[in-house]
Amino acid sequence: MLCKIKTIHLINLNQSLNITPKNRKFAIMQQNLFVYNTLSRKKEKFEPLNAPHVGMYVCGPTVYSDVHLGNCRTYISFDLIFRYLTHIGYKVRYVRNITDAGHLEGDTDQGEDKISKKAKLAQLEPMEIVQKYTVGFRDVLQIFNTLPPSIEPTATGHIIEQIELIKIMLERGFAYEVDGSVYFDVEKYNSTHDYGVLNGRNLEELLNNTRVLGGQDDKKGKLDFALWIKAKPEHLMKWPSPWSVGFPGWHLECSAMSHKYLGEQFDIHGGGIDLVPTHHTNEVAQNVACYDKNPARYWIHTNMLTVNGQKMSKSLGNSFLPHELFTGQHSILERGYSPMTVRFFILQAHYRSTLDFGNEAMEASDKGFKRLMNAVTLLDSLKTSAMSDVDIAPLQQKCYDAMNDDFNSPVLIAELFEATRIINSVHDGKLKIDAANLEILKSMIQTFVFDVLGLKNEQAANDDLPKVIDLVVNLRNEAKQNRDYATSDKIRNGLQQIGFQLKDSKEGTNWSKI
Ligand SMILES: [Zn+2]
Repeated sequence: MLCKIKTIHLINLNQSLNITPKNRKFAIMQQNLFVYNTLSRKKEKFEPLNAPHVGMYVCGPTVYSDVHLGNCRTYISFDLIFRYLTHIGYKVRYVRNITDAGHLEGDTDQGEDKISKKAKLAQLEPMEIVQKYTVGFRDVLQIFNTLPPSIEPTATGHIIEQIELIKIMLERGFAYEVDGSVYFDVEKYNSTHDYGVLNGRNLEELLNNTRVLGGQDDKKGKLDFALWIKAKPEHLMKWPSPWSVGFPGWHLECSAMSHKYLGEQFDIHGGGIDLVPTHHTNEVAQNVACYDKNPARYWIHTNMLTVNGQKMSKSLGNSFLPHELFTGQHSILERGYSPMTVRFFILQAHYRSTLDFGNEAMEASDKGFKRLMNAVTLLDSLKTSAMSDVDIAPLQQKCYDAMNDDFNSPVLIAELFEATRIINSVHDGKLKIDAANLEILKSMIQTFVFDVLGLKNEQAANDDLPKVIDLVVNLRNEAKQNRDYATSDKIRNGLQQIGFQLKDSKEGTNWSKI
């Protein structure tokens, strides 16, 4: 069933450029795509190893808790990249893993497995935790209208492949065993390769920046990291290996799975920018140690999401979940925002910039998104003239230019607002458009608003619904004012059951779709 949905999507994406097997190469050649590469710290022309095929690996979530908004930003950004590459004719194999074992607390080689810890607290099997949060993760991404990846492999499904990689690293002298655990020898590796190649730091700088944690005496060097960890008796998730009954180190799964599904070298490796110093640095070292190749030619990293200028964190009380953002049920939120408003807000910033979340910024995005969607709904009612005051082709080209400049979605959105201005002016009779230009305008909106930015017109399907909900909310408030709490609670709970959340404030009652 999933495959079927995916196929339909791809056909839709390709239709707007009229891509057929014959003209696919031509469509791609027309684009001059430049991508910022963390590896070289500059924009480079995108030239896949085996066009029209593109291999893209993105580090997925560790499924031990609800996905937070920062993670959603990363996956929405890679969804934009996936959609655009597909639109311009590439056949993308997009691999995004699920980490369901081996990720320890504090991202270290010590401490408890995050999933096992949660399982013990909830008195559940670790795989029940994995299932719950994997389903939750997929649900949230679907609400944000992100396309599913081509393959979604799990760490526990690739233990054999990970053990095979460790064997190669031991054989080639880049790893050593101590008491049933196996570690990567960073100093040995760095004597012939550049360990800090990804974040542009040399080994001395990295050593100076690394704290020595207690209880890590097994390791020869303080930058060494675990490939295999011997399990303590109480550890829940463990497997047999030539060295001990244990579990793989967190960084190893991505080397094993990207190699299995995309080969020794592929085109794009992505993830959040916080993964660069350790997880991705270690991943590069593992792949080079095994196959003498940096696994990816273009490393793409998304920046952080901040809240009112501060890093989002539970201890600061400014961390909220997508669900809380949709309903407005969090002290920091003045009201709820629809999933497409949030997606639009995220895409209004370039993926390499930090994105600061605040109520004012959300309000602005909400207005902008509505303005864009209102114009889109006017498109079909526009009347054509024999003459045209507008020439749409250059505007369409500007949209491609924006995306070809390192997937610059904020510039693309600015161009779409220019299209909005034209649509409104034609509608108001201030500008004339001929049939040919209207055709290009319609195709441009379909391509960039829906296929590439992945937005949905939330209002289109239920134009009158907001009026009906407003009416019901007013009835409920009247009941409340008359101290008829039984009726007001009945209406509130009834709305909640069918997916509408109410939030009362001094200014009145806001409602949002859950
Ligand atoms: Zn990874």
